[in-house]
Amino acid sequence: MDSATDAPSVQARGVVKTYGAGPTAVRALRCCDLTVERGEMVAIMGPSGSGKSTLLHVVGALEPVTAGDIAVGGVPYAGLGDKGLTVLRRDHIGFVFQFFNLLPSLSAIENAHLPALIAGRRDKALRDRARMLIERVGLGDRAEHVPAELSGGEQQRVSIARALLLQPELVLADEPTGNLDTRAGAEILALLREVNQRDGESILMVTHDANAAARADRVVFLRDGEIVGDLPGGSTDDVLAFLAGLQAPGEAPASADAALV
Ligand code: ADP
Repeated sequence: MDSATDAPSVQARGVVKTYGAGPTAVRALRCCDLTVERGEMVAIMGPSGSGKSTLLHVVGALEPVTAGDIAVGGVPYAGLGDKGLTVLRRDHIGFVFQFFNLLPSLSAIENAHLPALIAGRRDKALRDRARMLIERVGLGDRAEHVPAELSGGEQQRVSIARALLLQPELVLADEPTGNLDTRAGAEILALLREVNQRDGESILMVTHDANAAARADRVVFLRDGEIVGDLPGGSTDDVLAFLAGLQAPGEAPASADAALV
């Protein structure tokens, strides 16, 4: 991908997403603007049905937008076509899902290496990188185990290794701790933060967990398909207070730092 080196990892402008048409149409996103700077970790929060997954899906080029522009690393999606978008997704975006989405018959290291095979890249460098990443996520002694022999937290570690294999511009994480117990969830969050801070990977993460969101640099809040808040990370209490304000419309956010946009 020809990316301008200092372009933001994500630049979304005026994004609208409507599902269906006519009287049953659902406006899932209404004119959203979102920027994720290079090396930033941004969490998306909001009530159920507010458009969080839709925003992640359009940024991940899994769904087309109805209107507006999205660019990853300075490369606009408009005009790329299906094939171009598939290549962009494959080579430049790493996905981490709530339910891990690992192939059950492959070992941890084979799952981590899979994106290389899908991209038709059988070089040793990527096999070595898969090994390095499996060790990096703390599974050096579990590399040959299949998913059924791994805990949920270990499976999510494998999926993080897989997401990082092709050194993506951006990692998109959809409820990465949603299927884990508190301790495993906290460990996965710490790992994502480390990947972000040490390797400089940009991360955009949907979460219901205020503790998880507070680990990010910024927390963006959605309500009814609109971005209604943008808060610096750091304080779980501030995140919870802002959310409480969202769920009871009309209430002012309780934090002085909370910026309604
Ligand atoms: P969240 O992730 O915040 O729970 P979603 O992005 O899943 O919200 O959904 C936003 C709105 O779009 C909801 O009203 C939901 O019912 C609707 N929606 C999501 N996906 C589809 C779809 N494939 N077809 C029709 N409506 C959808």
